[in-house]
Amino acid sequence: MRGQVALVSGGANGIGRAVVERFLAEGACVGVLDRQPDALHDLRAEWSDRLVVVGGDVRDAAAHEAVLDATSQSFGPVDTYVANAGIHDMWTRLEDIPTDQLPAAFHELFTVDVLGYLLGARRMASALRAARGSMIFTASSSSRYAGGGGALYVAAKHAVVGLVRQLAHELAPDVRVNAIAPGATATGLSGLSDSEVGRGRLDERPGLMDRVAETVPLGFVAEPADHAALYVLLASATEAPFVTGAVLPSDGGLDVRRS
Ligand code: NAD
Repeated sequence: MRGQVALVSGGANGIGRAVVERFLAEGACVGVLDRQPDALHDLRAEWSDRLVVVGGDVRDAAAHEAVLDATSQSFGPVDTYVANAGIHDMWTRLEDIPTDQLPAAFHELFTVDVLGYLLGARRMASALRAARGSMIFTASSSSRYAGGGGALYVAAKHAVVGLVRQLAHELAPDVRVNAIAPGATATGLSGLSDSEVGRGRLDERPGLMDRVAETVPLGFVAEPADHAALYVLLASATEAPFVTGAVLPSDGGLDVRRS
């Protein structure tokens, strides 16, 4: 990726951070938008010449503007946009959401996981057209199957697939638009905070990952870095020049599970 300039939302922790680290190791310059910019303090010290970090919320259009400005002013035109920042609903079933809480829970989950991707894509589209670059969305096994979240998360991650397909259509032939669909991955993915339901973090649930690993054909839960090379592949105009509108699973083989 030497010579490439990438922008990653939600790049301070988890899967996004693994993508940032891998892009840097591959020679790219990287801009990050995250609401926890301090989590990248160590990486920023190590890679000060090729990493810029902007604190902000993906629900705020001005934050996308700010990170694009900061990244292109530091490194030149951006050619790769990774939309990745997201939250979960902690498997809250629809019947367990009090009706009066549902609008707030829906609003929070969909504004972060869907509107955040839309705002980012809207801002990056013209820059990526000029660079003939690519967008890569972090989808999920919940973009393809039930049970990896509650109704809100699964619906939102299915929406991401529609977004990828439509943007691949709208932005062709200038920009390739694809997604990675990770399965269970050991991160501190956050739940909701604006309503009384769906709160917490993935890594606060003792034994969860061991139980999930038993349902994965390959028998383990991924580490964030296990997905990173797929983002490098999709970001490459020479290694994946004919790939657009694709959702690549990285889920330990959920399509072939026996039960
Ligand atoms: P994570 O919490 O480790 O990382 C998410 C990052 O996004 C964090 O740095 C967080 O600060 C940032 N973020 C969250 N909301 C934000 C907002 N409103 N504005 C700005 N930044 C915000 O979680 P993760 O598991 O690495 O999740 C990354 C993506 O991967 C999400 O889209 C998630 O849905 C998806 N995913 C995760 C798993 C899993 O099992 N962990 C599986 C499939 C897909």
